[in-house]
Amino acid sequence: MLLSGRFNLRILVLLTCTFGQALSLQAQKSSRSFDSSSAQMASLDREVHADMFFLADDALHGRGSATRDEHLAALFAASQFQSLGLEPGGPAGSFLQKSPLPDPLPERLQHHLAKFEDTSRKETWNAIAILRGSDPNLKNEVILLTAHLDHLGVAATPINGDAIYNGADDDASGTTAVLTLAHLLATGHHPRRTVVFALFGSEEIGGFGARAFLANPPTPLTNIVANLEFEMIGRPDPAVPAGTLWLTGYERSTLGPELAKHGAHLVNDPHPKEQFFQRSDNIALARQGVIAHTVSSFGLHTDYHQPTDELGTIDFTHMTNAIASIVAPIHWLTDTDWKPTWNPGGRPEAHPPTSQQ
Ligand SMILES: [Zn+2]
Repeated sequence: MLLSGRFNLRILVLLTCTFGQALSLQAQKSSRSFDSSSAQMASLDREVHADMFFLADDALHGRGSATRDEHLAALFAASQFQSLGLEPGGPAGSFLQKSPLPDPLPERLQHHLAKFEDTSRKETWNAIAILRGSDPNLKNEVILLTAHLDHLGVAATPINGDAIYNGADDDASGTTAVLTLAHLLATGHHPRRTVVFALFGSEEIGGFGARAFLANPPTPLTNIVANLEFEMIGRPDPAVPAGTLWLTGYERSTLGPELAKHGAHLVNDPHPKEQFFQRSDNIALARQGVIAHTVSSFGLHTDYHQPTDELGTIDFTHMTNAIASIVAPIHWLTDTDWKPTWNPGGRPEAHPPTSQQ
């Protein structure tokens, strides 16, 4: 049925617009999702291996908290962030945030550190970078992606002849996740919200890096819409389906279920008795009101906090697939104006119970 000339033109314009919009939406969608069969996957896999082989090598001496080796790991991360053209998130235009440790260290900590090599621990290092959002309003909202750089370092007495706590799973794997996500977000579809990438020092000795970040954040804490900390994603957890990650405190806020709705292979933490929600850097942020959870696939393996947490134990296929699976949901989170909220009783106390201080 032909209608009048002017009418045809309007329909034509309408059709073109919607088709054009559909096309660009499709293009955008494809640049947000992750084509696991593509060269993109191969390059991600190379990058995961490269980062892990550096961070968990014996030469980094287990990235001891607040040691020279933690500083080296922070420098490595800072150089990666700089090479991606990200903005520095530390003081004075630096990608590094250095902060002094208490001097003297608390007695309980000195006692703990007696099991490790006697080395200088005066300051700790964070590496922080910013990918500024493209939307005039949403760029004031921040998605914070974190992990911890440090691990236990070198034992005072070797265990079965091995003194280096390489920390391949804990937490070179999480650090690698943040570095590779920074690469994918910085070179892919530009997010509407701002993304801050932060790698903390001294998580293993009480979270001094995360505390320094909270004391001098690169953005007001109230602007942080959500924090995902990546911890121990180097090996699959037999307690959950293959290819799945779990989120600590999943029931505490609306973040986990919503990410799962948008394609994340994310389920509830299958080890509630371990209280992992309180045992990583996310807790310091959550106590300040930030919706902050940890993503992991730690299956309580026996290499935890042992010198045997080596590269050879890492399941690189699982790890690369795990990172790939979270790209599209994170893209969604950095583009939406949806905000997660605490469920009733979900937000932790502002201060830890005295027994944990
Ligand atoms: Zn850890």
